[in-house]
Amino acid sequence: MTTIQQQPHHPAIAALLGLAVGDALGVPYEFVSREKLRESPAVGMIGYGTHNQPAGTWSDDAALTFCLAESLLGGYDLRDMAAKFVAWFDQGYWSAHGKVFDIGNTTLQSIRHLDELLSNTEGSDAFQQLTRIENEYENGNGSLMRILPLLFYLKGWPLQQQFERIHEVSALTHRHSRAAMSCLIYLRLAEHLLNGKEKISAYHQMREEIMAFWEEISWPEDECAHFERIIGQNILETDPEILEASGYVIATLEAVLYFFLRENNYKDTVLHLVNLGFDTDTVAAIGGGLAGLHYGLSDIPEDWLAAIARRDDIETLGRRLGGKYP
Ligand SMILES: [Mg+2]
Repeated sequence: MTTIQQQPHHPAIAALLGLAVGDALGVPYEFVSREKLRESPAVGMIGYGTHNQPAGTWSDDAALTFCLAESLLGGYDLRDMAAKFVAWFDQGYWSAHGKVFDIGNTTLQSIRHLDELLSNTEGSDAFQQLTRIENEYENGNGSLMRILPLLFYLKGWPLQQQFERIHEVSALTHRHSRAAMSCLIYLRLAEHLLNGKEKISAYHQMREEIMAFWEEISWPEDECAHFERIIGQNILETDPEILEASGYVIATLEAVLYFFLRENNYKDTVLHLVNLGFDTDTVAAIGGGLAGLHYGLSDIPEDWLAAIARRDDIETLGRRLGGKYP
C-alpha cells in the first residue's frame, strides 16, 4: 500500500488542482530538452522561463479542462463545450490571467472549426459527427490533457457507453479513435482510483478490461499494437530511457502511467514528468490530475498550491463538479 488518504478527500478538487499544479510546474520548462533538464532539473514551482509567465500560471491544458468541467455543470452538451473552448481562445475564458499564451496546432485548427460550426449549425449533431472523421495526424495529447472532468460524469457506466461519450468529447479537437482510446484508458484507471483501489491493482484491472473491450468491439489489431507497452505488457517493465514527453498521445500516456505507478507521491510523480523535457506542462498536467486524485490534496506541496493562479476559483469549480456528480 502506498497511499494514505487524508480526510476529508474531495476527489474532484484534488484532480483539478493536481492537474493545474502539474501544468504550472511544466510551463516554464516547455520545449526544454531532457538533456538540459538532466544538467539542471526542475525541483519546484518557478516563474518565467519559456512563456515568461509568473509562477503558478497554468496553460491551455488546465484551461480547457476547466472549460469542460464548467460545461458539465450544465449537463452533457457538446455544443456548449465547443462554445467554451472558443470563448477560451477568443476571450481568455477560464485562463489563468485573461489571455492565451499556449496552444497546440491540432487544438488551434479544431477550435477554428468549432467556431465555424457554432455559427453555421444548430444543436449538437454537427459536433457529434466529428467522431466519423479519422485523421491519423490528430493523435496528439491535446484531448487527453483536458478529459479528466468527464470521469465524474460517466463513472459507473458500461465501457461501450463511456467510450462513445469519450470519443465525442475527444473529437471536438482530436478526432482519431487512438486519441479517444487513450482517454478511455486514462479514465478507466482514474475511475478505479476514485473507487479507492490500490494503484497497481487498479492498473492491472484496467488492462484486463481494455483487452476484453477490444475483443468485444473488434478493435483493429494494428491499433491495439500502439498500446502494446501500456496494455499488452506491464508499463513498469519498460526502460524509462525510452519514455519521452513528445506531444504524441501514446508517448504521453506511457510516460504518465510509468511515473504515476512507479513513484509514491504527488511531488515525485510530477517532477519526474517535467524533467522528461519538451511537452513538460501537458505531461505533468495529465500525470498531476491522476496523482492529485489518488493521493489527495494534502499530498500536493502547500507552497505549490499557494502559487497557483485562481486557486479559489478552481476549488469552487471542483466542489461544484463533485456536488453535481457525487
Ligand atoms: Mg500547455
